Amino acid sequence: MDYQQLIERLYQETKPLAAQGKVASYIPALAEVPASRFAISLITRKQEKFQTGDHQMPFSIQSISKVFTFILAYKNLGAAIWDRIGREPSGTAFNSLIQLEHEQGIPRNPFINAGAIVVADIILSICKNPKQTLLDFVRTLAGDQAITFDKQVALSEKTTGHRNYALAHFMKGFGNIINPVDEVLDLYFHQCALAMNADQLASSFLFLANEGTNPFDQQEVLNPSRAKRLKALMLTSGLYNESGDFAFRVGLPAKSGVGGGIVAVIPKQLSIAIWSPPLNAMGNSIAGIEALERFTTYSGQSIF
Ligand code: GLU
Repeated sequence: MDYQQLIERLYQETKPLAAQGKVASYIPALAEVPASRFAISLITRKQEKFQTGDHQMPFSIQSISKVFTFILAYKNLGAAIWDRIGREPSGTAFNSLIQLEHEQGIPRNPFINAGAIVVADIILSICKNPKQTLLDFVRTLAGDQAITFDKQVALSEKTTGHRNYALAHFMKGFGNIINPVDEVLDLYFHQCALAMNADQLASSFLFLANEGTNPFDQQEVLNPSRAKRLKALMLTSGLYNESGDFAFRVGLPAKSGVGGGIVAVIPKQLSIAIWSPPLNAMGNSIAGIEALERFTTYSGQSIF
Protein backbone atom coordinates (compact mmCIF):
# COMPACT_ATOMS: atom_id res chain seq x y z
CA MET A 1 0.00 0.00 0.00
CA ASP A 2 1.39 3.42 -0.97
CA TYR A 3 0.35 5.30 2.16
CA GLN A 4 2.05 8.55 1.14
CA GLN A 5 0.04 8.69 -2.07
CA LEU A 6 -3.12 7.80 -0.15
CA ILE A 7 -2.74 10.51 2.50
CA GLU A 8 -1.90 13.13 -0.16
CA ARG A 9 -5.14 12.18 -1.89
CA LEU A 10 -7.07 12.48 1.38
CA TYR A 11 -5.46 15.87 1.97
CA GLN A 12 -6.54 17.18 -1.44
CA GLU A 13 -10.05 15.76 -1.29
CA THR A 14 -11.05 16.50 2.29
CA LYS A 15 -9.27 19.73 3.30
CA PRO A 16 -11.91 21.89 1.52
CA LEU A 17 -14.67 20.26 3.61
CA ALA A 18 -13.35 22.03 6.71
CA ALA A 19 -15.13 25.17 5.43
CA GLN A 20 -18.42 23.56 6.57
CA GLY A 21 -17.39 23.49 10.24
CA LYS A 22 -16.69 25.94 13.04
CA VAL A 23 -13.49 26.18 15.08
CA ALA A 24 -14.13 25.79 18.85
CA SER A 25 -14.65 29.25 20.27
CA TYR A 26 -15.13 28.79 24.03
CA ILE A 27 -11.54 29.90 24.74
CA PRO A 28 -9.39 32.41 22.79
CA ALA A 29 -6.49 29.98 22.34
CA LEU A 30 -8.74 27.65 20.33
CA ALA A 31 -10.78 30.38 18.60
CA GLU A 32 -7.59 31.91 17.20
CA VAL A 33 -6.33 28.73 15.48
CA PRO A 34 -6.58 29.20 11.69
CA ALA A 35 -9.36 27.04 10.23
CA SER A 36 -7.13 26.10 7.30
CA ARG A 37 -4.68 24.04 9.36
CA PHE A 38 -4.65 20.44 8.18
CA ALA A 39 -2.37 17.55 9.03
CA ILE A 40 -2.26 13.82 8.46
CA SER A 41 0.34 11.62 10.12
CA LEU A 42 0.43 7.86 9.82
CA ILE A 43 2.86 5.48 11.47
CA THR A 44 2.96 1.73 10.89
CA ARG A 45 3.75 -0.93 13.43
CA LYS A 46 7.21 -1.17 11.83
CA GLN A 47 7.58 2.56 12.48
CA GLU A 48 7.43 3.67 8.85
CA LYS A 49 6.11 7.24 8.79
CA PHE A 50 3.90 8.99 6.24
CA GLN A 51 3.07 12.65 6.88
CA THR A 52 1.54 15.62 5.13
CA GLY A 53 0.39 19.19 5.84
CA ASP A 54 0.91 20.87 9.24
CA HIS A 55 1.99 17.63 10.89
CA GLN A 56 4.72 19.25 12.99
CA MET A 57 2.54 22.03 14.34
CA PRO A 58 1.37 21.48 17.96
CA PHE A 59 -2.31 21.88 18.79
CA SER A 60 -4.51 21.40 21.84
CA ILE A 61 -5.36 17.71 22.08
CA GLN A 62 -8.29 18.31 24.46
CA SER A 63 -10.41 15.17 24.90
CA ILE A 64 -7.85 12.90 23.26
CA SER A 65 -6.02 13.20 26.60
CA LYS A 66 -8.86 11.23 28.20
CA VAL A 67 -7.33 8.08 26.73
CA PHE A 68 -3.94 8.76 28.35
CA THR A 69 -5.37 9.44 31.80
CA PHE A 70 -7.71 6.47 31.53
CA ILE A 71 -4.74 4.17 30.86
CA LEU A 72 -2.91 5.47 33.96
CA ALA A 73 -5.97 4.84 36.14
CA TYR A 74 -6.85 1.48 34.53
CA LYS A 75 -3.29 0.16 34.92
CA ASN A 76 -3.49 0.96 38.60
CA LEU A 77 -7.05 0.00 39.52
CA GLY A 78 -7.76 -2.76 37.01
CA ALA A 79 -11.38 -3.94 36.91
CA ALA A 80 -12.19 -1.99 40.11
CA ILE A 81 -12.36 1.14 37.94
CA TRP A 82 -15.80 -0.04 36.74
CA ASP A 83 -17.21 0.55 40.23
CA ARG A 84 -16.88 4.27 39.55
CA ILE A 85 -17.29 4.63 35.78
CA GLY A 86 -19.49 2.85 33.23
CA ARG A 87 -18.55 1.55 29.81
CA GLU A 88 -21.61 2.31 27.71
CA PRO A 89 -21.89 4.97 25.02
CA SER A 90 -23.55 8.07 26.46
CA GLY A 91 -25.69 9.27 23.57
CA THR A 92 -25.56 12.72 25.17
CA ALA A 93 -23.16 15.63 24.69
CA PHE A 94 -19.65 15.31 26.14
CA ASN A 95 -20.33 17.85 28.87
CA SER A 96 -23.92 16.83 29.68
CA LEU A 97 -25.20 16.71 33.27
CA ILE A 98 -28.49 14.97 32.56
CA GLN A 99 -27.49 11.29 32.81
CA LEU A 100 -25.53 11.79 36.01
CA GLU A 101 -28.69 12.49 37.98
CA HIS A 102 -30.36 9.28 36.78
CA GLU A 103 -27.25 7.21 37.26
CA GLN A 104 -26.34 8.38 40.74
CA GLY A 105 -23.12 10.19 39.85
CA ILE A 106 -21.58 7.27 37.92
CA PRO A 107 -20.54 8.58 34.48
CA ARG A 108 -21.47 6.45 31.47
CA ASN A 109 -17.90 6.08 30.20
CA PRO A 110 -14.37 7.48 30.74
CA PHE A 111 -14.45 9.61 27.57
CA ILE A 112 -17.23 12.04 28.45
CA ASN A 113 -16.16 14.93 30.67
CA ALA A 114 -17.75 13.47 33.81
CA GLY A 115 -15.90 10.17 33.29
CA ALA A 116 -12.59 11.91 32.67
CA ILE A 117 -13.07 13.98 35.82
CA VAL A 118 -13.52 10.78 37.88
CA VAL A 119 -10.40 9.39 36.19
CA ALA A 120 -8.50 12.57 37.15
CA ASP A 121 -9.69 12.07 40.74
CA ILE A 122 -8.37 8.49 40.69
CA ILE A 123 -4.98 9.66 39.40
CA LEU A 124 -4.79 12.28 42.13
CA SER A 125 -5.30 9.53 44.71
CA ILE A 126 -2.55 7.31 43.29
CA CYS A 127 0.15 9.80 42.17
CA LYS A 128 2.31 12.18 44.20
CA ASN A 129 2.85 14.52 41.26
CA PRO A 130 -0.01 13.80 38.86
CA LYS A 131 0.75 16.41 36.19
CA GLN A 132 4.37 15.35 35.89
CA THR A 133 3.37 11.66 35.89
CA LEU A 134 0.96 12.34 33.02
CA LEU A 135 3.54 14.34 31.08
CA ASP A 136 6.23 11.67 31.54
CA PHE A 137 3.75 8.98 30.46
CA VAL A 138 2.68 10.79 27.29
CA ARG A 139 6.32 11.61 26.41
CA THR A 140 7.26 7.95 26.77
CA LEU A 141 4.31 6.78 24.68
CA ALA A 142 5.14 9.25 21.91
CA GLY A 143 8.89 8.63 22.17
CA ASP A 144 9.28 12.42 22.33
CA GLN A 145 10.42 14.43 25.35
CA ALA A 146 9.38 17.78 23.84
CA ILE A 147 5.67 17.45 24.69
CA THR A 148 4.35 20.03 27.22
CA PHE A 149 1.19 21.58 28.62
CA ASP A 150 0.04 24.86 27.08
CA LYS A 151 -0.31 26.88 30.30
CA GLN A 152 -2.42 29.55 28.59
CA VAL A 153 -4.97 26.94 27.46
CA ALA A 154 -5.04 25.38 30.94
CA LEU A 155 -5.79 28.78 32.47
CA SER A 156 -8.52 29.55 29.94
CA GLU A 157 -10.07 26.11 30.54
CA LYS A 158 -10.23 27.00 34.22
CA THR A 159 -11.85 30.41 33.75
CA THR A 160 -14.48 29.02 31.36
CA GLY A 161 -14.92 25.58 32.94
CA HIS A 162 -18.24 26.20 34.70
CA ARG A 163 -19.91 23.02 33.44
CA ASN A 164 -16.90 20.96 34.50
CA TYR A 165 -17.08 22.49 38.00
CA ALA A 166 -20.78 21.66 38.03
CA LEU A 167 -20.10 18.04 36.97
CA ALA A 168 -17.35 17.60 39.56
CA HIS A 169 -19.36 19.04 42.44
CA PHE A 170 -22.42 17.05 41.41
CA MET A 171 -20.43 13.81 41.45
CA LYS A 172 -18.83 14.77 44.74
CA GLY A 173 -22.37 15.07 46.08
CA PHE A 174 -22.84 11.41 45.11
CA GLY A 175 -19.51 10.46 46.73
CA ASN A 176 -17.81 9.69 43.41
CA ILE A 177 -15.12 12.38 43.72
CA ILE A 178 -12.75 11.91 46.66
CA ASN A 179 -10.23 14.74 46.33
CA PRO A 180 -10.91 18.50 46.44
CA VAL A 181 -12.71 19.61 43.25
CA ASP A 182 -10.15 22.36 42.53
CA GLU A 183 -7.28 19.86 42.54
CA VAL A 184 -9.15 17.35 40.40
CA LEU A 185 -10.04 20.00 37.83
CA ASP A 186 -6.53 21.44 37.83
CA LEU A 187 -5.33 18.08 36.50
CA TYR A 188 -8.29 17.80 34.11
CA PHE A 189 -7.70 21.30 32.67
CA HIS A 190 -3.99 20.57 32.22
CA GLN A 191 -4.62 17.28 30.44
CA CYS A 192 -6.97 19.09 28.01
CA ALA A 193 -4.16 21.63 27.48
CA LEU A 194 -1.56 19.07 26.38
CA ALA A 195 -0.06 20.42 23.16
CA MET A 196 0.97 17.80 20.63
CA ASN A 197 1.44 17.66 16.89
CA ALA A 198 -0.06 15.01 14.60
CA ASP A 199 3.23 13.06 14.44
CA GLN A 200 3.44 12.84 18.23
CA LEU A 201 -0.22 11.84 18.47
CA ALA A 202 0.06 9.07 15.91
CA SER A 203 3.19 7.74 17.66
CA SER A 204 1.61 7.89 21.12
CA PHE A 205 -1.25 5.58 20.02
CA LEU A 206 0.96 3.13 18.14
CA PHE A 207 1.11 0.79 21.15
CA LEU A 208 -2.58 0.02 20.48
CA ALA A 209 -1.59 -1.25 17.04
CA ASN A 210 1.06 -3.35 18.77
CA GLU A 211 -1.17 -5.27 21.21
CA GLY A 212 -0.48 -2.95 24.11
CA THR A 213 3.32 -2.78 23.94
CA ASN A 214 5.10 0.50 23.25
CA PRO A 215 7.10 -0.18 20.07
CA PHE A 216 9.64 2.53 20.93
CA ASP A 217 10.90 0.98 24.17
CA GLN A 218 9.27 -2.49 24.11
CA GLN A 219 7.58 -1.83 27.47
CA GLU A 220 4.06 -3.15 27.99
CA VAL A 221 1.64 -0.22 28.40
CA LEU A 222 -1.45 -2.44 28.78
CA ASN A 223 -1.62 -6.19 28.50
CA PRO A 224 -3.24 -7.43 25.25
CA SER A 225 -6.59 -8.07 26.96
CA ARG A 226 -6.78 -4.56 28.45
CA ALA A 227 -5.54 -3.02 25.19
CA LYS A 228 -8.44 -4.80 23.48
CA ARG A 229 -10.89 -3.39 26.02
CA LEU A 230 -9.53 0.14 25.57
CA LYS A 231 -9.97 -0.11 21.80
CA ALA A 232 -13.53 -1.34 22.34
CA LEU A 233 -14.21 1.74 24.48
CA MET A 234 -12.73 4.00 21.81
CA LEU A 235 -14.95 2.37 19.18
CA THR A 236 -18.12 2.73 21.25
CA SER A 237 -17.45 6.07 22.98
CA GLY A 238 -14.45 7.79 21.35
CA LEU A 239 -16.36 10.42 19.37
CA TYR A 240 -18.82 11.71 21.94
CA ASN A 241 -22.42 11.21 20.82
CA GLU A 242 -21.30 10.62 17.25
CA SER A 243 -19.50 7.36 18.09
CA GLY A 244 -22.09 5.11 16.44
CA ASP A 245 -22.07 7.09 13.22
CA PHE A 246 -18.27 7.17 13.20
CA ALA A 247 -18.09 3.38 13.69
CA PHE A 248 -20.57 3.02 10.83
CA ARG A 249 -18.69 5.34 8.49
CA VAL A 250 -15.07 4.63 9.44
CA GLY A 251 -14.99 1.33 11.33
CA LEU A 252 -11.96 2.07 13.53
CA PRO A 253 -11.38 2.67 17.25
CA ALA A 254 -10.58 6.37 17.60
CA LYS A 255 -10.62 9.38 19.91
CA SER A 256 -11.38 12.99 19.02
CA GLY A 257 -10.94 16.34 20.76
CA VAL A 258 -12.44 19.80 20.29
CA GLY A 259 -9.04 21.08 19.15
CA GLY A 260 -9.88 19.30 15.87
CA GLY A 261 -7.66 16.26 16.33
CA ILE A 262 -8.74 12.65 15.77
CA VAL A 263 -6.48 9.65 16.23
CA ALA A 264 -7.46 6.17 15.05
CA VAL A 265 -5.86 2.75 15.11
CA ILE A 266 -5.89 -0.32 12.90
CA PRO A 267 -4.94 -3.15 15.28
CA LYS A 268 -1.68 -4.91 14.38
CA GLN A 269 -1.06 -2.39 11.60
CA LEU A 270 -0.94 1.34 12.15
CA SER A 271 -1.99 4.49 13.90
CA ILE A 272 -3.18 7.63 12.08
CA ALA A 273 -3.71 11.15 13.42
CA ILE A 274 -5.59 13.89 11.59
CA TRP A 275 -5.88 17.54 12.57
CA SER A 276 -8.37 19.98 11.09
CA PRO A 277 -9.82 22.49 13.60
CA PRO A 278 -13.33 23.20 12.22
CA LEU A 279 -15.88 21.06 14.07
CA ASN A 280 -19.39 19.75 13.40
CA ALA A 281 -22.28 20.16 15.85
CA MET A 282 -21.08 17.19 17.97
CA GLY A 283 -17.63 18.76 18.48
CA ASN A 284 -15.75 16.51 16.06
CA SER A 285 -13.49 17.57 13.19
CA ILE A 286 -15.59 17.62 10.00
CA ALA A 287 -12.74 17.10 7.57
CA GLY A 288 -11.01 14.69 9.97
CA ILE A 289 -13.97 12.30 9.98
CA GLU A 290 -14.32 12.54 6.23
CA ALA A 291 -10.60 11.86 5.72
CA LEU A 292 -10.77 8.79 7.97
CA GLU A 293 -13.88 7.51 6.20
CA ARG A 294 -12.13 7.78 2.84
CA PHE A 295 -8.97 6.28 4.35
CA THR A 296 -10.75 3.04 5.24
CA THR A 297 -12.77 3.06 2.02
CA TYR A 298 -9.82 3.60 -0.32
CA SER A 299 -7.44 1.29 1.55
CA GLY A 300 -10.05 -1.41 2.17
CA GLN A 301 -8.78 -1.64 5.76
CA SER A 302 -10.88 -1.42 8.92
CA ILE A 303 -11.58 -3.62 11.92
CA PHE A 304 -14.64 -5.01 10.14
N1 GLU B 1 -11.85 21.08 27.43
C1 GLU B 1 -13.22 21.04 27.05
C2 GLU B 1 -14.11 20.73 28.20
O1 GLU B 1 -13.69 20.10 29.14
C3 GLU B 1 -13.52 20.09 25.92
C4 GLU B 1 -12.73 18.85 25.87
C5 GLU B 1 -13.12 18.07 24.62
O2 GLU B 1 -14.24 17.56 24.57
O3 GLU B 1 -12.28 17.93 23.70
O4 GLU B 1 -15.26 21.09 28.19
